Amino acid sequence: MEQGLNAPPPPHVLIFPFPAQGHVNSMLKLAELLALAGIHVTFLNTDHNHDRLVRYTNVLARFACFPGFQFKTIPDGLPAENPRAGDHFMEMFGTLKSVTKPIFRKILSSGQSNSNTSRRPVSCIIADGILSFPIDVGDELGIPVIHFRTISACSFWAYFRIPDIIDAGELPIRGNGDMDRLITSVPDMETFLRCRDLPSYCRVSDLADPNLQLAADETRQSPRARALVLNTFEELEGPVLSHIRTHCPKIYTLGPLHLLLKLKLGYKTTTLHSQSSNSLFEVDRSCMTWLDAQPLNSVIYVSFGSITKMTKKELMEFWYGLVNSKKRFLWVIRPDMVDGKDGDGQTPAELVEGTKERGYMVGWAPQEEVLAHPAVGGFFTHSGWNSTLESIVAGVPMICWPYFADQQVNSRFVSEVWKLGMDMKDVCDRVTVEKMVNDLTVEKREEFLKSTVKMSRLARESVSESGSSYCNFERLIEDIRLMRQGAK
Ligand code: UDP
Repeated sequence: MEQGLNAPPPPHVLIFPFPAQGHVNSMLKLAELLALAGIHVTFLNTDHNHDRLVRYTNVLARFACFPGFQFKTIPDGLPAENPRAGDHFMEMFGTLKSVTKPIFRKILSSGQSNSNTSRRPVSCIIADGILSFPIDVGDELGIPVIHFRTISACSFWAYFRIPDIIDAGELPIRGNGDMDRLITSVPDMETFLRCRDLPSYCRVSDLADPNLQLAADETRQSPRARALVLNTFEELEGPVLSHIRTHCPKIYTLGPLHLLLKLKLGYKTTTLHSQSSNSLFEVDRSCMTWLDAQPLNSVIYVSFGSITKMTKKELMEFWYGLVNSKKRFLWVIRPDMVDGKDGDGQTPAELVEGTKERGYMVGWAPQEEVLAHPAVGGFFTHSGWNSTLESIVAGVPMICWPYFADQQVNSRFVSEVWKLGMDMKDVCDRVTVEKMVNDLTVEKREEFLKSTVKMSRLARESVSESGSSYCNFERLIEDIRLMRQGAK
């Protein structure tokens, strides 16, 4: 970025993600894009996640080439031993508000977040859209706040409509027998959104449930922000985006962000893993060598993201289903993924044998690279939004087994709207797993390929020069520069 003699100093943006893998990943990608565009960036991570990021990646070296970039850290308020996954995930919301918020205010008001090079204060905050308190602090200190919601537009819209669904009397859900009832008060989804496809927080019998209230209230705060950034693209979610624009008129759709970043960094000059691994887990690259030895499109990649927990019984059903399908599989089993209480007995010989012949397991994989590998022909996913976008870009069809939050909505869109795969939500038995794997890789393969090839092309076009996300990114940079001029 060229700076003339009289050019104003660059703006200074503080980026604050919610402390979870998917959020840190996509917001750090945005941070890298802004730094590449010559903007000064402070990335405010929690102490816990910053330690992990530094331990498992080369972020410090990677960002050292941007003199205007700095990492700062803040406590998440939880004790060190809290697992921050599964049932413990929601605990972070409480401590972020009670412990982190006052420190956040202090960091901004005391000048601790001033740029390390220009010493300039923060001219714009890009805060995770799952949290509304940064808007309160920004309003108080006169700093404009942009919300970045790291979920899909369709999930955002479903969250946003929760109060309307309640007003229409369509919530609460009345037991398991009620799960297939259609929800008609989310415009654009009237014909296919069932109770079971609503954000998981809606699965409660008491409408005063604090998690349901939180999910609905926080999303309703986004219109208070100056603008909304979404990691999606117009060609994927245009109709839903036009509904959201009636509440949040200024939306920048910048996705798929990982592809936009790859493009801006230059496809050929560097290898992907050295550029942009933002992993909070230790990556086991041995699976790439294993993949190299497998035939084209022959492997089902299985991963349920960074937060999903499952019981030993569920693990066994997946395992039997995969082995019985006789297909090759690469499976990410995080060390903390399985609730270990229900018995650690010996693994049945047929599973050991089937895995030795056709399977490979790791604790954490270089997922973007795995999905781009020619041996991978399908993705068994929990439908986290990053994973879904990565699969779309790679043109890999999905089997969805959503765990919580937005994943229930994403998986419905993958199967019913975009036709990019199948939804296995709320079911976990070996027969279904085996059948779905066979459908994805054999019976329905051609059918899915038509949609995955097309959507992958549209994703690529959106981040290419003059594509929708590419242009929106330019517009965001321009608007951030204008905010700096308007700032005190
Ligand atoms: N991921 C990875 N290796 C793995 C599993 C996941 O690098 O073995 C990455 C994946 O590429 C994605 C992120 O972790 O970018 C998970 O985010 P997502 O939104 O899909 O799910 P979450 O973990 O937030 O539930």
